[in-house]
Amino acid sequence: MQPLPPGSTIGILGAGQLGRMLAVAASQLGFKCRIYSDVPGPASDVSVATTIGPYEDLEKIAKFAAETDVVTYEFENVPVAAGAAVQQVRPVRPGLKALEVAQDRYLEKSFIEALGLPLPRFASVDGPDDFAAAVAKVGAPSILKTRRLGYDGKGQARLQSADDIAVAFDAIGRAPATLEAMVPFKFEVSVLLVRGLDGTTAFYDIPQNHHEGGILRTSTVPSALPEAHQALARDIAGKLAAALDYVGIIGVEMFYVGEGPTPLLLNEFAPRVHNSGHWTMDGCGIGQFENHIRAVAGWPVGATERHSDCQMTNLIGDDVAAWPQLAAEPGVCVHLYGKNEARPGRKMGHVNRLFPLSTVG
Ligand code: AMP
Repeated sequence: MQPLPPGSTIGILGAGQLGRMLAVAASQLGFKCRIYSDVPGPASDVSVATTIGPYEDLEKIAKFAAETDVVTYEFENVPVAAGAAVQQVRPVRPGLKALEVAQDRYLEKSFIEALGLPLPRFASVDGPDDFAAAVAKVGAPSILKTRRLGYDGKGQARLQSADDIAVAFDAIGRAPATLEAMVPFKFEVSVLLVRGLDGTTAFYDIPQNHHEGGILRTSTVPSALPEAHQALARDIAGKLAAALDYVGIIGVEMFYVGEGPTPLLLNEFAPRVHNSGHWTMDGCGIGQFENHIRAVAGWPVGATERHSDCQMTNLIGDDVAAWPQLAAEPGVCVHLYGKNEARPGRKMGHVNRLFPLSTVG
């Protein structure tokens, strides 16, 4: 397929901040964006048109798709049927496989395991009948996560001992779940890679991620990951992306254990641009949003080299009220998402602090 020429229209399913930053990057390459979402969101401020409708209205979705040249998505819980309705009309990138696998934790872990990639011990818990087998396989301490619709630590309950499973299952609303072993990690990292339509793959430097209350707080490059383990992390993520026949940016979250035969364990992947890649907007010549758009449009993948060390800090809830001080701080790049209400836990923006490029990492 020929690359999409500037002036073409990219459809985005979802209207959140990721869609917004994708639309800004797309506009810089001469594209127009149209948004489809079930709820209004900040992506509409920077796009040429928005269709509000349920993801179950496949007719409306097909009509939306017909007004675009290619469609991408900014969150992984787009119903697969909606993606399939688009695909009848226009290409969907990344494809439906990534969507299907990423939105069900058990399916995701089984897919990763089948590829022979390292991950924590896990077992499915669809109901009380599965309790005994799951704790026998996984043990404790462990963590019970809903199969679907969990994000930022939501839909999770921790088990200190195997006896806690019934309480944990109640705590997550008795939804079908996956039990996984608690990993005594040193720190968390994520691999952000971009894969073009022709399979060309380029990796961003690997950030070290710090979470607070289940929500990403900071991403820092360079990480403390030794070079040999960076290569291993890239290898794991590259294999996953290739197996998904992936197009665009994928964010692959890993636990760094450090010692033993499996220094890195895969936690989960996001089939989209990822919060831990926001540092690339200012730390690299071509950031993750532009590279995702390039891949989706069939353009050559852009350079991923970082020109500066960087720490990204999320502005969560009321943090955003500090914008005047942040804007006055030298060397701080401020990104605000245009959301009107700063509810607790809501991602309102982020800042990137740049530092001279160090030799490590
Ligand atoms: P998740 O929604 O699966 O990314 O989980 C949110 C956060 O909870 C992760 O970034 C980790 O900090 C922590 N967490 C999740 N799963 C595990 C695990 N198996 N072992 C240790 N910590 C975990």
